[in-house]
Amino acid sequence: MQVNDISRTKSAELYEKAKTYFPGGVNSPVRAFRSVYGTPLFIEKGDGSHLWDADGNEFIDFCGSWGPLILGHNHAAVRENVMRVMQKGMSFGAPTALENELAELILSNNRFIEKLRFVSSGTEAVMSAIRLARGYTKRDKILKFEGCYHGHTDSLLVKAGSGLVTFGETSSAGVPKPFADETVVIALNDEEALQKAFEDFSGQIAAVIIEPVPANNGLLLQTKDYLNYLRELCTLNGTLLIFDEVISGFRVGFEGAAGYYDIKPDIITYGKIIGGGLPVGAYGASAEIMDHISPVGSVYQAGTLSGNPVAMAAGIAQISELLQPGFYDKLNAKTADFVSDIRSHVAEKGYELEVFTIGSIFWFAFTNQVSITRADQIDPESMLKFKAMHRELINRGIYFGPSGYEVGFISAAHTQEDLERTKTAIFDSLEIVFSN
Ligand code: PMP
Repeated sequence: MQVNDISRTKSAELYEKAKTYFPGGVNSPVRAFRSVYGTPLFIEKGDGSHLWDADGNEFIDFCGSWGPLILGHNHAAVRENVMRVMQKGMSFGAPTALENELAELILSNNRFIEKLRFVSSGTEAVMSAIRLARGYTKRDKILKFEGCYHGHTDSLLVKAGSGLVTFGETSSAGVPKPFADETVVIALNDEEALQKAFEDFSGQIAAVIIEPVPANNGLLLQTKDYLNYLRELCTLNGTLLIFDEVISGFRVGFEGAAGYYDIKPDIITYGKIIGGGLPVGAYGASAEIMDHISPVGSVYQAGTLSGNPVAMAAGIAQISELLQPGFYDKLNAKTADFVSDIRSHVAEKGYELEVFTIGSIFWFAFTNQVSITRADQIDPESMLKFKAMHRELINRGIYFGPSGYEVGFISAAHTQEDLERTKTAIFDSLEIVFSN
């Protein structure tokens, strides 16, 4: 059934104004809706699994602020803890007991790190982890994988995913060549390329950084064997393995991908979920590695708002909910059922579409390949189908992130009714996408 486009009058007015203030009218590129239909939606409020835009349109949200909102929008426990703490002041630039509280919740439930440092974003966490690895190993080169996005740190904006792949230019201008030259880039899931990189740059690679669940260039699920092989080669070569768990941390399980695959990296970076929707990131490692950080070690890293009490309060409340028995089992089972119903429908209709999933993450790939493990296996043309689906879904009150290279998230707030409504909207949308 065809439906009309929703009204975007107020969003369009706001967007016109925003364009006079911000480049492209936004403060982060993918928000500009440039690879999907229509002007960006300006959001007015969120509650549970639902969002409302400036025109009063209501949506069931599968973007979840790009991952942090694993409990849904405006969760009462998070909101109340934030408000309680805010009443005592918002920033001191001095230690507070709240930092200990959040660290204790994380470290006593995570077998893979012994100490951590809070920062204010995923980018900052990764930037600091890289510096730590370089300071620790006294080497300069970093190895990353094509399609993995690690925030907008200079040396990692090389063949990256997220907004870069969305806009078709996978490396950024403004990165000096000597910086980029310190970054070695290879394809994911390619043991030979990995081996060769370690041979070519023998004794020079400080760290390998990987999203163990690559989720910024579609969902490029790796095999456990490959990740084990990577671990092995890093150990053999005296190279630190960094798991960038800004998306997968506290998402595919409390211990993230390290726990999911039972592989111990040397450094882990976190963001998104750890802050309960406020700006928090963290990096952690063994006490021995972390003690290379200032003021005890010689690797400098600091932050005026690091460990900010309001942000810690949000993190404490959210992380406490995640530690409730059965939290992940329930969330992951709900996602698996949702994906399985969509797959059955797609198979029945014979659509060229695969839905990839892990934990409560899913990705729609307009392809008939049953496995996609590398960025170059995605046909950019397939994004036209995503664009068409995105428009149909928005018009049916379903909000997916505005890029076909980004994944969707299910939260604890999604009800069975939400998911039934969403499936119907997806089935109706796909009928239109595949009939054109
Ligand atoms: N690493 C990964 C794996 C990410 O997905 C992101 C953000 N999507 C970042 C780092 C950067 O985090 P932030 O946007 O908070 O700086």
